[in-house]
Amino acid sequence: AIMRVLWKNKVPLQIGRMCYSSSLPTTKLFIDGKFVESNTTEWLDIHNPATNEVIAKVPKATEEEMLAAVDSCSRAYTSWSEMSVLARQQIFLRYQQLIKDNIKELAKSITLEQGKTLADAEGDVFRGLQVVEHTCSITSLLLGETLPSITRDMDTYTYRLPIGVCAGIAPFNFPAMIPLWMFPVAMVCGNTFLLKPSERVPGCAMLLAKLLQDAGAPDGTLNVIHGQHAAVNFICDHPAIKAISFVGSNQAGEYIYERGSKNGKRVQSNMGAKNHGVVMPDANKENTLNQLVGAAFGAAGQRCMALSTAILVGEARSWLPELVERAKALRVNAGDQPGADVGPLISPEAKRRVDGLIQSGADEGASLLLDGRNVKVKGYENGNFVGPTILSNVTPEMKCYTEEIFGPVLVVLEADSLDEAISIVNKNPYGNGTAIFTTNGATARKYTHEVDVGQVGVNVPIPVPLPMFSFTGSRGSFRGDTNFYGKQGIQFYTQIKTVTSQWKAEDATLKTPAVTMPT
Ligand code: NAD
Repeated sequence: AIMRVLWKNKVPLQIGRMCYSSSLPTTKLFIDGKFVESNTTEWLDIHNPATNEVIAKVPKATEEEMLAAVDSCSRAYTSWSEMSVLARQQIFLRYQQLIKDNIKELAKSITLEQGKTLADAEGDVFRGLQVVEHTCSITSLLLGETLPSITRDMDTYTYRLPIGVCAGIAPFNFPAMIPLWMFPVAMVCGNTFLLKPSERVPGCAMLLAKLLQDAGAPDGTLNVIHGQHAAVNFICDHPAIKAISFVGSNQAGEYIYERGSKNGKRVQSNMGAKNHGVVMPDANKENTLNQLVGAAFGAAGQRCMALSTAILVGEARSWLPELVERAKALRVNAGDQPGADVGPLISPEAKRRVDGLIQSGADEGASLLLDGRNVKVKGYENGNFVGPTILSNVTPEMKCYTEEIFGPVLVVLEADSLDEAISIVNKNPYGNGTAIFTTNGATARKYTHEVDVGQVGVNVPIPVPLPMFSFTGSRGSFRGDTNFYGKQGIQFYTQIKTVTSQWKAEDATLKTPAVTMPT
Protein backbone atom coordinates (compact mmCIF):
# COMPACT_ATOMS: atom_id res chain seq x y z
CA ALA A 1 0.00 0.00 0.00
CA ILE A 2 2.73 2.49 0.87
CA MET A 3 4.33 1.89 -2.50
CA ARG A 4 1.24 3.22 -4.25
CA VAL A 5 1.47 6.56 -2.53
CA LEU A 6 4.94 7.04 -3.93
CA TRP A 7 4.68 5.93 -7.50
CA LYS A 8 2.65 7.89 -9.97
CA ASN A 9 -0.08 6.10 -11.94
CA LYS A 10 -0.50 3.47 -9.24
CA VAL A 11 1.76 1.07 -11.04
CA PRO A 12 1.67 -2.36 -9.44
CA LEU A 13 4.94 -3.54 -8.04
CA GLN A 14 6.02 -6.91 -9.36
CA ILE A 15 9.10 -8.48 -8.03
CA GLY A 16 11.87 -8.18 -10.55
CA ARG A 17 9.86 -6.32 -13.17
CA MET A 18 7.68 -3.28 -13.12
CA CYS A 19 4.80 -3.31 -15.60
CA TYR A 20 4.08 -0.01 -17.21
CA SER A 21 2.36 1.23 -20.28
CA SER A 22 2.68 4.75 -21.60
CA SER A 23 4.35 6.69 -18.86
CA LEU A 24 6.94 5.77 -16.29
CA PRO A 25 6.39 6.17 -12.56
CA THR A 26 8.26 9.06 -11.05
CA THR A 27 9.99 9.19 -7.68
CA LYS A 28 8.68 11.99 -5.50
CA LEU A 29 10.54 14.47 -3.35
CA PHE A 30 9.59 14.47 0.33
CA ILE A 31 9.35 18.08 1.38
CA ASP A 32 7.76 19.41 4.53
CA GLY A 33 5.78 16.25 5.10
CA LYS A 34 4.47 15.93 1.53
CA PHE A 35 5.43 13.61 -1.30
CA VAL A 36 5.62 16.03 -4.19
CA GLU A 37 6.39 15.81 -7.87
CA SER A 38 9.51 17.72 -8.86
CA ASN A 39 9.23 20.62 -11.28
CA THR A 40 12.61 19.80 -12.75
CA THR A 41 13.27 19.26 -16.42
CA GLU A 42 16.12 16.85 -15.63
CA TRP A 43 15.22 13.24 -14.88
CA LEU A 44 17.38 10.15 -14.52
CA ASP A 45 16.26 6.63 -15.39
CA ILE A 46 16.12 3.91 -12.75
CA HIS A 47 16.82 0.44 -14.14
CA ASN A 48 16.09 -3.05 -12.98
CA PRO A 49 19.66 -4.45 -12.98
CA ALA A 50 18.41 -7.94 -13.81
CA THR A 51 16.80 -6.82 -17.09
CA ASN A 52 18.03 -3.27 -17.69
CA GLU A 53 14.45 -2.19 -18.24
CA VAL A 54 13.74 1.37 -17.19
CA ILE A 55 11.34 1.02 -14.29
CA ALA A 56 10.98 4.56 -13.02
CA LYS A 57 12.47 8.02 -13.11
CA VAL A 58 14.11 10.10 -10.43
CA PRO A 59 14.36 13.89 -10.58
CA LYS A 60 17.37 16.10 -10.15
CA ALA A 61 15.73 18.43 -7.66
CA THR A 62 15.80 22.10 -8.56
CA GLU A 63 17.63 24.68 -6.45
CA GLU A 64 14.26 26.01 -5.32
CA GLU A 65 13.14 22.55 -4.18
CA MET A 66 16.38 21.92 -2.32
CA LEU A 67 16.05 25.29 -0.60
CA ALA A 68 12.47 24.45 0.34
CA ALA A 69 13.66 21.14 1.82
CA VAL A 70 16.41 22.67 3.94
CA ASP A 71 14.12 25.51 5.06
CA SER A 72 11.61 22.91 6.13
CA CYS A 73 14.32 21.16 8.18
CA SER A 74 15.31 24.50 9.77
CA ARG A 75 11.73 25.40 10.71
CA ALA A 76 11.02 21.96 12.15
CA TYR A 77 14.23 22.01 14.20
CA THR A 78 12.95 24.49 16.78
CA SER A 79 10.09 22.36 18.05
CA TRP A 80 11.67 18.96 17.35
CA SER A 81 14.82 19.74 19.33
CA GLU A 82 12.70 21.04 22.22
CA MET A 83 10.37 18.05 22.18
CA SER A 84 10.67 15.67 25.11
CA VAL A 85 13.25 13.02 24.44
CA LEU A 86 10.66 10.49 25.58
CA ALA A 87 8.31 11.64 22.82
CA ARG A 88 11.04 11.27 20.22
CA GLN A 89 11.82 7.83 21.61
CA GLN A 90 8.16 6.81 21.21
CA ILE A 91 8.24 7.74 17.52
CA PHE A 92 11.25 5.51 16.94
CA LEU A 93 9.68 2.69 18.95
CA ARG A 94 6.73 2.85 16.55
CA TYR A 95 9.12 3.19 13.59
CA GLN A 96 11.03 0.00 14.34
CA GLN A 97 7.73 -1.90 14.48
CA LEU A 98 6.57 -0.43 11.15
CA ILE A 99 9.86 -1.43 9.51
CA LYS A 100 9.41 -4.97 10.83
CA ASP A 101 5.83 -5.06 9.54
CA ASN A 102 6.95 -3.92 6.07
CA ILE A 103 10.25 -5.73 5.74
CA LYS A 104 9.10 -7.80 2.75
CA GLU A 105 7.87 -4.77 0.84
CA LEU A 106 11.07 -2.85 1.58
CA ALA A 107 13.13 -5.84 0.43
CA LYS A 108 11.14 -6.11 -2.82
CA SER A 109 11.87 -2.50 -3.62
CA ILE A 110 15.58 -3.09 -2.96
CA THR A 111 15.72 -6.17 -5.19
CA LEU A 112 13.88 -4.37 -7.96
CA GLU A 113 16.18 -1.34 -8.05
CA GLN A 114 19.46 -2.69 -6.71
CA GLY A 115 19.38 -6.30 -7.87
CA LYS A 116 20.47 -8.20 -4.75
CA THR A 117 18.61 -11.35 -3.80
CA LEU A 118 15.45 -11.00 -1.76
CA ALA A 119 16.97 -12.78 1.23
CA ASP A 120 19.97 -10.46 1.12
CA ALA A 121 17.67 -7.45 0.71
CA GLU A 122 15.88 -8.48 3.89
CA GLY A 123 19.28 -8.60 5.58
CA ASP A 124 19.91 -5.06 4.31
CA VAL A 125 16.70 -3.86 5.98
CA PHE A 126 17.36 -5.91 9.10
CA ARG A 127 20.80 -4.43 9.73
CA GLY A 128 19.30 -0.94 9.42
CA LEU A 129 16.40 -1.92 11.65
CA GLN A 130 18.89 -2.86 14.37
CA VAL A 131 20.18 0.70 14.32
CA VAL A 132 16.64 2.01 14.69
CA GLU A 133 16.09 -0.37 17.62
CA HIS A 134 19.23 0.98 19.23
CA THR A 135 18.04 4.57 18.88
CA CYS A 136 15.13 3.57 21.13
CA SER A 137 17.57 3.55 24.05
CA ILE A 138 18.26 7.24 23.47
CA THR A 139 17.25 8.16 27.00
CA SER A 140 20.40 6.41 28.21
CA LEU A 141 22.58 7.29 25.23
CA LEU A 142 21.95 11.01 25.63
CA LEU A 143 22.86 11.21 29.30
CA GLY A 144 25.36 13.91 30.20
CA GLU A 145 27.92 13.87 33.00
CA THR A 146 27.97 15.50 36.40
CA LEU A 147 30.65 16.28 38.94
CA PRO A 148 29.32 17.80 42.11
CA SER A 149 31.35 20.02 44.47
CA ILE A 150 34.04 21.10 41.98
CA THR A 151 34.66 23.73 44.60
CA ARG A 152 32.57 25.01 47.44
CA ASP A 153 28.91 25.34 46.42
CA MET A 154 29.82 24.67 42.80
CA ASP A 155 28.76 21.79 40.53
CA THR A 156 29.56 21.04 36.90
CA TYR A 157 27.37 19.10 34.54
CA THR A 158 27.00 18.55 30.84
CA TYR A 159 24.10 18.31 28.44
CA ARG A 160 24.37 16.42 25.18
CA LEU A 161 22.43 18.55 22.69
CA PRO A 162 21.53 18.35 19.00
CA ILE A 163 23.44 20.46 16.50
CA GLY A 164 20.75 21.52 14.00
CA VAL A 165 20.04 20.39 10.47
CA CYS A 166 22.10 17.36 9.44
CA ALA A 167 22.34 15.81 5.99
CA GLY A 168 23.10 12.39 4.54
CA ILE A 169 24.38 11.28 1.13
CA ALA A 170 23.98 7.56 0.54
CA PRO A 171 25.38 4.95 -1.90
CA PHE A 172 23.50 2.43 -4.03
CA ASN A 173 24.60 -0.79 -2.40
CA PHE A 174 22.57 -0.74 0.84
CA PRO A 175 19.39 1.19 0.03
CA ALA A 176 17.91 0.59 3.51
CA MET A 177 20.75 -0.01 5.93
CA ILE A 178 22.84 3.03 5.13
CA PRO A 179 20.10 5.68 5.23
CA LEU A 180 19.07 4.00 8.51
CA TRP A 181 22.60 4.50 9.88
CA MET A 182 21.97 8.19 9.39
CA PHE A 183 18.61 9.87 9.92
CA PRO A 184 17.24 7.82 12.86
CA VAL A 185 20.36 8.46 14.94
CA ALA A 186 20.50 12.15 14.02
CA MET A 187 16.78 12.67 14.56
CA VAL A 188 16.39 10.86 17.85
CA CYS A 189 19.09 13.21 19.22
CA GLY A 190 16.86 16.17 18.26
CA ASN A 191 18.31 17.12 14.86
CA THR A 192 16.29 17.40 11.68
CA PHE A 193 17.56 15.66 8.56
CA LEU A 194 17.94 16.16 4.83
CA LEU A 195 18.55 12.87 3.00
CA LYS A 196 19.86 12.44 -0.52
CA PRO A 197 19.59 8.75 -1.37
CA SER A 198 21.54 7.25 -4.24
CA GLU A 199 19.88 8.31 -7.48
CA ARG A 200 20.13 4.68 -8.61
CA VAL A 201 18.03 3.22 -5.78
CA PRO A 202 15.78 5.94 -4.33
CA GLY A 203 12.63 3.80 -3.89
CA CYS A 204 13.50 2.20 -0.57
CA ALA A 205 14.43 5.54 1.02
CA MET A 206 11.01 6.89 0.02
CA LEU A 207 9.29 3.94 1.68
CA LEU A 208 11.38 4.50 4.80
CA ALA A 209 10.38 8.17 4.81
CA LYS A 210 6.70 7.24 4.51
CA LEU A 211 6.97 4.77 7.38
CA LEU A 212 8.66 7.39 9.54
CA GLN A 213 5.82 9.78 8.83
CA ASP A 214 3.35 7.04 9.75
CA ALA A 215 5.28 6.53 12.98
CA GLY A 216 4.49 10.13 13.88
CA ALA A 217 7.57 12.15 12.85
CA PRO A 218 6.37 15.75 12.45
CA ASP A 219 6.45 17.44 9.04
CA GLY A 220 9.89 18.78 8.17
CA THR A 221 11.88 16.62 10.57
CA LEU A 222 12.96 14.48 7.60
CA ASN A 223 13.15 15.85 4.05
CA VAL A 224 14.30 13.82 1.04
CA ILE A 225 15.77 15.32 -2.13
CA HIS A 226 17.17 13.57 -5.19
CA GLY A 227 19.98 14.34 -7.58
CA GLN A 228 23.67 14.04 -8.23
CA HIS A 229 26.48 16.57 -8.12
CA ALA A 230 24.33 19.69 -7.78
CA ALA A 231 22.50 18.16 -4.81
CA VAL A 232 25.80 17.11 -3.22
CA ASN A 233 27.28 20.59 -3.68
CA PHE A 234 24.13 22.13 -2.27
CA ILE A 235 24.48 20.01 0.87
CA CYS A 236 28.19 20.82 1.22
CA ASP A 237 27.56 24.56 0.89
CA HIS A 238 24.26 25.42 2.56
CA PRO A 239 25.04 27.27 5.82
CA ALA A 240 22.06 25.83 7.72
CA ILE A 241 23.46 22.29 7.39
CA LYS A 242 25.77 21.60 10.31
CA ALA A 243 26.87 18.02 9.66
CA ILE A 244 27.15 15.64 6.70
CA SER A 245 27.16 11.87 6.81
CA PHE A 246 28.49 10.33 3.60
CA VAL A 247 28.87 6.72 2.53
CA GLY A 248 30.18 5.80 -0.91
CA SER A 249 33.29 5.82 -3.06
CA ASN A 250 36.59 7.51 -2.25
CA GLN A 251 36.26 9.85 -5.17
CA ALA A 252 33.01 11.33 -3.87
CA GLY A 253 33.81 10.91 -0.18
CA GLU A 254 37.09 12.79 -0.21
CA TYR A 255 35.53 15.59 -2.23
CA ILE A 256 32.58 15.89 0.15
CA TYR A 257 34.83 15.70 3.20
CA GLU A 258 36.97 18.54 1.90
CA ARG A 259 34.18 20.77 0.63
CA GLY A 260 31.95 20.24 3.67
CA SER A 261 34.82 20.75 6.14
CA LYS A 262 35.93 23.96 4.40
CA ASN A 263 32.43 25.23 4.99
CA GLY A 264 32.76 24.54 8.70
CA LYS A 265 30.62 21.41 8.83
CA ARG A 266 31.27 18.17 10.63
CA VAL A 267 31.75 15.42 8.06
CA GLN A 268 31.94 11.67 8.55
CA SER A 269 32.84 9.88 5.34
CA ASN A 270 32.79 6.10 4.98
CA MET A 271 34.43 5.06 1.74
CA GLY A 272 35.87 2.22 -0.33
CA ALA A 273 37.62 -0.93 0.74
CA LYS A 274 39.81 -3.89 -0.09
CA ASN A 275 39.14 -6.38 2.67
CA HIS A 276 41.58 -9.23 3.21
CA GLY A 277 40.76 -12.62 4.64
CA VAL A 278 43.89 -14.31 5.99
CA VAL A 279 43.54 -18.10 5.93
CA MET A 280 45.87 -19.98 8.26
CA PRO A 281 46.55 -23.67 7.58
CA ASP A 282 45.17 -24.57 11.02
CA ALA A 283 41.75 -23.06 10.24
CA ASN A 284 38.59 -25.14 10.17
CA LYS A 285 38.65 -25.83 6.44
CA GLU A 286 34.97 -26.47 5.81
CA ASN A 287 33.88 -23.39 7.71
CA THR A 288 36.52 -21.15 6.24
CA LEU A 289 35.90 -22.04 2.61
CA ASN A 290 32.16 -21.53 3.01
CA GLN A 291 32.69 -18.23 4.77
CA LEU A 292 35.14 -17.01 2.13
CA VAL A 293 32.82 -17.90 -0.72
CA GLY A 294 29.81 -16.30 0.97
CA ALA A 295 31.66 -13.10 1.84
CA ALA A 296 33.40 -12.72 -1.53
CA PHE A 297 30.41 -13.37 -3.79
CA GLY A 298 27.33 -12.55 -1.69
CA ALA A 299 25.55 -9.39 -2.90
CA ALA A 300 27.62 -9.91 -6.10
CA GLY A 301 30.57 -8.49 -4.18
CA GLN A 302 28.87 -5.09 -3.96
CA ARG A 303 29.45 -4.67 -0.25
CA CYS A 304 32.03 -2.37 1.27
CA MET A 305 32.72 -5.24 3.67
CA ALA A 306 32.92 -7.94 0.98
CA LEU A 307 35.91 -10.16 1.62
CA SER A 308 37.39 -9.54 -1.81
CA THR A 309 40.99 -10.61 -1.16
CA ALA A 310 42.18 -13.89 0.31
CA ILE A 311 45.71 -14.45 1.58
CA LEU A 312 46.40 -18.16 1.83
CA VAL A 313 49.18 -18.81 4.31
CA GLY A 314 51.50 -21.83 3.94
CA GLU A 315 49.66 -25.10 3.42
CA ALA A 316 46.32 -23.33 3.06
CA ARG A 317 47.43 -22.78 -0.56
CA SER A 318 46.33 -26.31 -1.32
CA TRP A 319 42.69 -25.37 -0.57
CA LEU A 320 42.37 -23.37 -3.79
CA PRO A 321 40.77 -26.06 -5.98
CA GLU A 322 38.09 -26.64 -3.37
CA LEU A 323 37.47 -22.92 -3.08
CA VAL A 324 36.90 -22.80 -6.83
CA GLU A 325 34.47 -25.74 -6.69
CA ARG A 326 32.38 -24.06 -4.02
CA ALA A 327 32.31 -20.75 -5.87
CA LYS A 328 31.25 -22.53 -9.07
CA ALA A 329 28.27 -24.05 -7.25
CA LEU A 330 26.69 -20.65 -6.53
CA ARG A 331 23.61 -19.90 -8.60
CA VAL A 332 23.66 -16.66 -10.55
CA ASN A 333 20.15 -15.35 -11.17
CA ALA A 334 17.81 -12.39 -10.86
CA GLY A 335 17.46 -11.45 -7.21
CA ASP A 336 13.76 -12.35 -7.05
CA GLN A 337 14.25 -15.86 -8.44
CA PRO A 338 14.10 -18.75 -5.98
CA GLY A 339 17.51 -20.11 -5.08
CA ALA A 340 19.47 -17.15 -6.45
CA ASP A 341 22.82 -16.69 -4.67
CA VAL A 342 24.42 -14.00 -6.82
CA GLY A 343 22.36 -11.24 -8.42
CA PRO A 344 23.34 -8.75 -11.10
CA LEU A 345 25.66 -5.76 -10.78
CA ILE A 346 24.03 -2.36 -10.55
CA SER A 347 24.64 -1.20 -14.14
CA PRO A 348 26.14 -2.13 -17.50
CA GLU A 349 29.00 0.30 -16.74
CA ALA A 350 29.69 -1.54 -13.48
CA LYS A 351 29.78 -4.83 -15.41
CA ARG A 352 32.15 -3.39 -18.01
CA ARG A 353 34.41 -2.07 -15.25
CA VAL A 354 34.47 -5.40 -13.40
CA ASP A 355 35.05 -7.34 -16.65
CA GLY A 356 37.92 -5.00 -17.45
CA LEU A 357 39.54 -5.49 -14.03
CA ILE A 358 39.30 -9.27 -14.42
CA GLN A 359 40.99 -8.96 -17.81
CA SER A 360 43.69 -6.70 -16.35
CA GLY A 361 44.50 -9.41 -13.78
CA ALA A 362 44.84 -12.04 -16.50
CA ASP A 363 46.97 -9.67 -18.61
CA GLU A 364 49.25 -8.90 -15.69
CA GLY A 365 49.98 -12.56 -15.02
CA ALA A 366 47.36 -13.70 -12.51
CA SER A 367 45.73 -17.11 -13.05
CA LEU A 368 42.06 -16.90 -13.92
CA LEU A 369 40.85 -20.02 -12.12
CA LEU A 370 37.18 -19.17 -12.49
CA ASP A 371 35.86 -16.66 -15.01
CA GLY A 372 32.31 -15.40 -14.52
CA ARG A 373 32.28 -12.86 -17.31
CA ASN A 374 30.28 -14.83 -19.83
CA VAL A 375 27.69 -16.21 -17.49
CA LYS A 376 24.28 -16.62 -19.12
CA VAL A 377 21.13 -16.26 -17.07
CA LYS A 378 18.11 -17.71 -18.80
CA GLY A 379 15.32 -15.19 -19.19
CA TYR A 380 17.59 -12.35 -18.09
CA GLU A 381 19.94 -12.08 -21.04
CA ASN A 382 20.14 -8.29 -20.74
CA GLY A 383 21.02 -8.22 -17.04
CA ASN A 384 24.36 -7.03 -15.68
CA PHE A 385 25.47 -10.45 -14.49
CA VAL A 386 29.00 -11.52 -13.63
CA GLY A 387 29.43 -14.95 -12.10
CA PRO A 388 31.85 -15.75 -9.29
CA THR A 389 35.39 -15.17 -10.48
CA ILE A 390 38.69 -16.19 -8.86
CA LEU A 391 42.09 -14.79 -9.74
CA SER A 392 45.05 -16.46 -8.06
CA ASN A 393 48.79 -15.72 -8.10
CA VAL A 394 47.87 -12.09 -7.63
CA THR A 395 50.60 -9.71 -6.46
CA PRO A 396 50.18 -6.31 -4.76
CA GLU A 397 51.22 -4.31 -7.83
CA MET A 398 48.44 -5.66 -10.05
CA LYS A 399 45.53 -3.38 -10.85
CA CYS A 400 43.03 -6.05 -9.74
CA TYR A 401 44.63 -5.75 -6.30
CA THR A 402 45.16 -2.00 -6.05
CA GLU A 403 41.60 -1.12 -7.13
CA GLU A 404 38.37 -1.89 -5.33
CA ILE A 405 36.60 -4.20 -7.81
CA PHE A 406 33.11 -4.10 -6.24
CA GLY A 407 31.99 -7.22 -8.07
CA PRO A 408 31.93 -10.99 -7.47
CA VAL A 409 35.68 -11.35 -7.86
CA LEU A 410 38.01 -12.89 -5.31
CA VAL A 411 41.70 -12.12 -5.74
CA VAL A 412 44.00 -14.60 -4.05
CA LEU A 413 47.50 -13.86 -2.77
CA GLU A 414 49.83 -16.22 -0.97
CA ALA A 415 52.11 -15.76 2.04
CA ASP A 416 54.63 -17.95 3.80
CA SER A 417 53.90 -16.69 7.28
CA LEU A 418 51.44 -14.74 9.39
CA ASP A 419 53.94 -11.85 9.56
CA GLU A 420 54.08 -11.66 5.80
CA ALA A 421 50.27 -11.68 5.58
CA ILE A 422 49.99 -8.88 8.16
CA SER A 423 52.54 -6.85 6.26
CA ILE A 424 50.55 -7.19 3.02
CA VAL A 425 47.33 -6.09 4.72
CA ASN A 426 48.97 -3.14 6.47
CA LYS A 427 50.56 -1.89 3.25
CA ASN A 428 47.17 -1.70 1.54
CA PRO A 429 45.82 1.86 1.85
CA TYR A 430 42.29 0.82 2.82
CA GLY A 431 41.32 -0.06 6.39
CA ASN A 432 37.66 -1.01 6.32
CA GLY A 433 37.56 -4.66 7.37
CA THR A 434 39.58 -7.84 7.57
CA ALA A 435 39.23 -11.36 8.91
CA ILE A 436 41.55 -14.10 10.07
CA PHE A 437 40.61 -17.77 9.95
CA THR A 438 42.45 -19.89 12.49
CA THR A 439 41.92 -22.27 15.39
CA ASN A 440 44.89 -20.87 17.28
CA GLY A 441 44.13 -18.22 19.89
CA ALA A 442 47.64 -16.80 19.91
CA THR A 443 47.58 -16.41 16.12
CA ALA A 444 44.21 -14.66 16.33
CA ARG A 445 45.44 -12.37 19.06
CA LYS A 446 48.61 -11.45 17.22
CA TYR A 447 46.60 -10.67 14.09
CA THR A 448 43.97 -8.52 15.79
CA HIS A 449 46.73 -6.71 17.67
CA GLU A 450 49.06 -5.99 14.76
CA VAL A 451 46.72 -5.48 11.84
CA ASP A 452 45.99 -1.82 11.07
CA VAL A 453 42.37 -2.17 10.00
CA GLY A 454 39.32 -0.71 11.75
CA GLN A 455 37.10 -3.82 11.85
CA VAL A 456 38.56 -7.25 12.44
CA GLY A 457 36.81 -10.61 12.35
CA VAL A 458 38.18 -13.74 13.97
CA ASN A 459 36.53 -16.57 12.07
CA VAL A 460 33.90 -13.96 11.15
CA PRO A 461 34.15 -13.00 7.49
CA ILE A 462 32.10 -9.79 7.51
CA PRO A 463 32.67 -8.20 10.91
CA VAL A 464 30.17 -5.34 10.68
CA PRO A 465 29.63 -4.30 14.31
CA LEU A 466 26.16 -4.27 15.83
CA PRO A 467 24.84 -0.80 16.69
CA MET A 468 25.82 -0.82 20.36
CA PHE A 469 29.32 -0.54 18.83
CA SER A 470 30.22 1.69 15.89
CA PHE A 471 31.20 1.05 12.27
CA THR A 472 34.90 1.72 12.64
CA GLY A 473 36.51 1.54 9.20
CA SER A 474 39.88 3.30 9.24
CA ARG A 475 42.75 4.70 7.15
CA GLY A 476 41.85 5.12 3.45
CA SER A 477 38.31 3.86 4.08
CA PHE A 478 37.32 6.75 6.35
CA ARG A 479 37.61 10.50 6.70
CA GLY A 480 36.52 12.26 9.85
CA ASP A 481 37.03 11.42 13.49
CA THR A 482 33.68 10.11 14.64
CA ASN A 483 32.22 6.98 13.10
CA PHE A 484 28.69 5.93 12.24
CA TYR A 485 26.12 4.73 14.80
CA GLY A 486 26.71 3.45 18.35
CA LYS A 487 28.26 5.85 20.85
CA GLN A 488 30.28 7.52 18.12
CA GLY A 489 27.18 8.15 16.04
CA ILE A 490 25.49 9.85 18.98
CA GLN A 491 28.65 11.90 19.48
CA PHE A 492 28.71 12.91 15.82
CA TYR A 493 25.17 14.27 15.91
CA THR A 494 25.44 16.07 19.26
CA GLN A 495 27.41 18.80 20.96
CA ILE A 496 28.15 19.23 24.62
CA LYS A 497 27.10 22.14 26.74
CA THR A 498 28.96 22.30 30.04
CA VAL A 499 27.31 24.17 32.89
CA THR A 500 29.28 25.31 35.91
CA SER A 501 26.84 26.38 38.54
CA GLN A 502 27.33 28.01 41.90
CA TRP A 503 24.67 28.33 44.54
CA LYS A 504 26.36 30.03 47.49
CA ALA A 505 25.03 29.89 50.93
CA GLU A 506 24.10 33.36 52.19
CA ASP A 507 27.11 33.58 54.49
CA ALA A 508 29.53 32.93 51.57
CA THR A 509 28.44 35.91 49.44
CA LEU A 510 31.41 37.74 47.80
CA LYS A 511 32.23 41.03 49.50
CA THR A 512 34.60 42.38 46.79
CA PRO A 513 35.08 41.76 43.00
CA ALA A 514 37.11 38.61 42.23
CA VAL A 515 39.56 39.91 39.59
CA THR A 516 41.98 36.99 39.50
CA MET A 517 41.39 33.93 37.32
CA PRO A 518 39.11 31.58 39.26
CA THR A 519 41.01 28.47 40.33
P1 NAD B 1 29.30 6.77 -5.14
O1 NAD B 1 30.40 7.50 -4.47
O2 NAD B 1 29.30 6.70 -6.61
O3 NAD B 1 27.89 7.43 -4.73
C1 NAD B 1 27.59 7.73 -3.38
C2 NAD B 1 26.81 9.03 -3.32
O4 NAD B 1 27.64 10.11 -3.75
C3 NAD B 1 25.58 9.05 -4.21
O5 NAD B 1 24.52 9.63 -3.51
C4 NAD B 1 26.01 9.87 -5.41
O6 NAD B 1 24.95 10.65 -5.94
C5 NAD B 1 27.10 10.78 -4.87
N1 NAD B 1 28.21 10.96 -5.82
C6 NAD B 1 28.69 10.07 -6.72
N2 NAD B 1 29.75 10.56 -7.37
C7 NAD B 1 29.97 11.79 -6.89
C8 NAD B 1 30.95 12.79 -7.15
N3 NAD B 1 31.92 12.60 -8.04
N4 NAD B 1 30.88 13.94 -6.44
C9 NAD B 1 29.92 14.11 -5.53
N5 NAD B 1 28.98 13.19 -5.23
C10 NAD B 1 28.99 12.05 -5.90
O7 NAD B 1 29.24 5.33 -4.49
P2 NAD B 1 28.33 4.12 -4.93
O8 NAD B 1 28.83 3.59 -6.23
O9 NAD B 1 26.90 4.47 -4.79
O10 NAD B 1 28.69 3.06 -3.76
C11 NAD B 1 29.76 2.16 -3.83
C12 NAD B 1 30.93 2.64 -3.02
O11 NAD B 1 30.53 2.90 -1.68
C13 NAD B 1 32.04 1.60 -2.90
O12 NAD B 1 33.28 2.25 -3.02
C14 NAD B 1 31.87 1.05 -1.50
O13 NAD B 1 33.02 0.50 -0.91
C15 NAD B 1 31.43 2.26 -0.78
N6 NAD B 1 30.72 1.93 0.45
C16 NAD B 1 31.35 2.14 1.62
C17 NAD B 1 30.73 1.79 2.80
C18 NAD B 1 31.41 2.00 4.11
O14 NAD B 1 30.73 1.99 5.12
N7 NAD B 1 32.72 2.19 4.14
C19 NAD B 1 29.45 1.23 2.78
C20 NAD B 1 28.83 1.05 1.56
C21 NAD B 1 29.47 1.40 0.39
